[in-house]
Amino acid sequence: MLLQEMTWLMVDKLSRNTPVIIPVAALEQHGHHLPVFTDSMLLGEVIRRAHDADISTGPVASQVLITPLFWLGNSEHHLDFPGSMSASPRVYLDLLRDMVENFLFHGFRRILILNGHGGNIVPAQQVLFEIRQKYRDKHDLLLVSATYWLLGGQPKRMDPSLFQDQVLHACEYETSMVMRIRPELVGPVQNLETIGHADGIAPAHRAWITKDRSTCGHIGSPQFATPAKGETCFSVFQTDVVRLWQQMIAWDGKSWVV
Ligand SMILES: [Zn+2]
Repeated sequence: MLLQEMTWLMVDKLSRNTPVIIPVAALEQHGHHLPVFTDSMLLGEVIRRAHDADISTGPVASQVLITPLFWLGNSEHHLDFPGSMSASPRVYLDLLRDMVENFLFHGFRRILILNGHGGNIVPAQQVLFEIRQKYRDKHDLLLVSATYWLLGGQPKRMDPSLFQDQVLHACEYETSMVMRIRPELVGPVQNLETIGHADGIAPAHRAWITKDRSTCGHIGSPQFATPAKGETCFSVFQTDVVRLWQQMIAWDGKSWVV
């Protein structure tokens, strides 16, 4: 169900065990060759496909409530590149908290922040951590955050011609997916070079701005992108998202193990 197409009466009739999906992404530079709305477009496509899926308990479309995609992300690390937009990191935490608490106020208990941008991972986890502490007397809450490409699916297993081992930024994976759905928006990639993602201090975490790592804006190897690889990625990521939604639908309302 798509929240933006419903009346409040329709929402009010829903079981409060209906999982609420809050998609969050970004508008930020994606190198010389991809549009700034890449993360939002890709997450929107993954959700569109997942929403249309049929599962053992029937069509997904009738079992989860999906809010409009929240496109303003935590993208301060990209602000040196014109066109990038960002909420300040602490403002972003408050915005996420408000969206989740809106639905807790309406009585819903199962909430998923479904993310499509690396910079949102830590804020989404922090917000749900804080909310869980705040509502510590409630034992029927399922507060989950997830990033669609980190749910376990490995596109490279299905297509060994993928060069990269993981999703990076404006990289082979993201470029392939935009090529699959909006090829007219992808600039020339054949002369782009691989920008490595090693930071030299892992597994310790070093704080960074994008300019530290890439002057052109991408990280990874977009020159190897193809629309077919993009289709593989979408099918793997959509399957992972549907599986997570199924888990949230099937949760018994109390157990730690979902
Ligand atoms: Zn991206």
